[in-house]
Amino acid sequence: LESRLPKVGTTIFTVMSALAAECKAVNLGQGFPDFDCDPRLIDSVVSAMRAGLNQYPPMAGAAPLREAIAAKIGRLYRAAYDPATEITVTAGATQAIFTAVLAIVRPGDEVIVLEPVYDSYIPNIELAGGHAVTVPMTPEFRVDWSAVRAAVTPRTRAIMVNSPHNPSGTILRDADMRALEAIAVESDLFVISDEVYEHMVFDGEPHCSASSYPGLAARSFVVSSFGKTFHVTGWKVAHCAAPAALTAEFRKVHQFNVFTVNTPVQHGLADYLQDPAPYLGLAGFYQRKRDLFRQGLAGTRFGLLPCEGTYFQVVDYSRVSALGEADFARWLTTEIGVAAIPVSAFSEHQVDRGLVRFCFAKKDETLKLALSRLARL
Ligand code: PMP
Ligand code: GLN
Repeated sequence: LESRLPKVGTTIFTVMSALAAECKAVNLGQGFPDFDCDPRLIDSVVSAMRAGLNQYPPMAGAAPLREAIAAKIGRLYRAAYDPATEITVTAGATQAIFTAVLAIVRPGDEVIVLEPVYDSYIPNIELAGGHAVTVPMTPEFRVDWSAVRAAVTPRTRAIMVNSPHNPSGTILRDADMRALEAIAVESDLFVISDEVYEHMVFDGEPHCSASSYPGLAARSFVVSSFGKTFHVTGWKVAHCAAPAALTAEFRKVHQFNVFTVNTPVQHGLADYLQDPAPYLGLAGFYQRKRDLFRQGLAGTRFGLLPCEGTYFQVVDYSRVSALGEADFARWLTTEIGVAAIPVSAFSEHQVDRGLVRFCFAKKDETLKLALSRLARL
């Protein structure tokens, strides 16, 4: 069989988690919390199951959940999405992003992605028959919008962006969003805005959602994930907000991909969303963990890069080891007992700068154990 994805192996997240488990290392690699979600959320889901909400929901998602999502986006970003025609519940952000790509990308189309790039984007584009055009971020992991503009050709159909950004932890600010809006409008491009870390923006900065910018909202698929926001990455429930015409095409693909998403979980989430405190408190919750982790690392030989959002911290290990990133991440896991992700795993060209990513969505005791091991280096 000739592979549809010849350059692709098993994802780095799966590989590093398996290695961490095998070596009993502290797993700061793959991004997921090692603590449980709010028991009230579990109660809400169990109540939905006991109430008999166990058959297929509507194809686009359970109505109370779509209404709760639209209300939340409206309040936070002053954007009006009609839950009936503009919000779709998906099986994780991974499915939402792939579905958006399949809905808009035709064979031969170009799609601009910013490197480092989340690992699913380029395979998604290629499976749709498109070509990914990678624009490198600056060494500080900022976006050079003039480079993005220069990458636009008559074949460009869309730009994919991710803020807060995995793996670097940088955010797109208002000026970035305006630059993106100008390029997308003038060249008539679609935008896929991956905002799964929307509630993890630190130091009092706002999250600048594509849905807040009218020129962007009119052409964007805005994706977020309950897995990140409510500490339930294994539930795989997320959503996509897009104007009705785009959502109509999105749903055509969605219905033949997953058709629908877990019913009781959707009703449980709808109920839990009535209280904004859990998601409004998330930035403070993770900022405290970020600070604990950074303070611990400040006493080691690792160099800290800024972390403005997400639950990831990138470090420069050049004073610790001369190994390449992939080898260093393996060595750190097997010999030191702390798993990390090489930043080069997010790069098509495997650019190797001596950087690895740690996930700090962990219990304080887990972070302290990892820090005690890292401090030995
Ligand atoms: N986009 C980014 C940037 C992510 O980091 C992740 C997952 N960690 C996803 C998408 C996928 O989210 P989900 O687990 O909801 O599929
Ligand atoms: N997005 C998560 C990360 O960056 C992992 C999700 C996955 O394993 N696909 O670590």
